[in-house]
Amino acid sequence: MAALLMKNLLKKYKPLLIYDNIITEKDFDKKLDEWLLKMQDNQQSKNDFIWSLLNESLFKIAQNSCTEQELYHNQRDIYLYQFRFLNDESKDISNIQKLINQCDLNLANLNRLQMNVILITNGCCNECQSFDGNKNSLESELSHSSLPIHSCSRPQGCICCYGFEGIRDANGRLKIKQSY
Ligand SMILES: [Zn+2]
Repeated sequence: MAALLMKNLLKKYKPLLIYDNIITEKDFDKKLDEWLLKMQDNQQSKNDFIWSLLNESLFKIAQNSCTEQELYHNQRDIYLYQFRFLNDESKDISNIQKLINQCDLNLANLNRLQMNVILITNGCCNECQSFDGNKNSLESELSHSSLPIHSCSRPQGCICCYGFEGIRDANGRLKIKQSY
């Protein structure tokens, strides 16, 4: 029965990965053939193939990104795929959510504006709800992240994330970082 219930994630993710230029259709088919020669030809193995492609893509991004900005942007795209994938497999997403949140902090840190971080709880759980809209300085979040929220009770892990807002001076102008 379990095999019948398993989702066909290969069918779902193949067109998405190709559409997003993460891999070409030709490469996808070639790598899948190689994978199935090495591994068992069943649904779990095909789903694992998608996960391995995503990890391979992360490796390439780390090697080929020219700027930090590009690195975090591209990593974030793949982490989002991994988030969706784990969600589809009903697995714990907390580690991937942490990586996505870290990318967001890093990207905000590269911005020339001074920013505050706002917690967005996305309807995560009752425990997290009370933190919704809490504001912190970017610096404090970078040195000690308040996410995931410790008291979170969501079974598959905390999905709280960050929003950002520019800090304004007394005249309402957005403040630029000293280093710019
Ligand atoms: Zn929660």
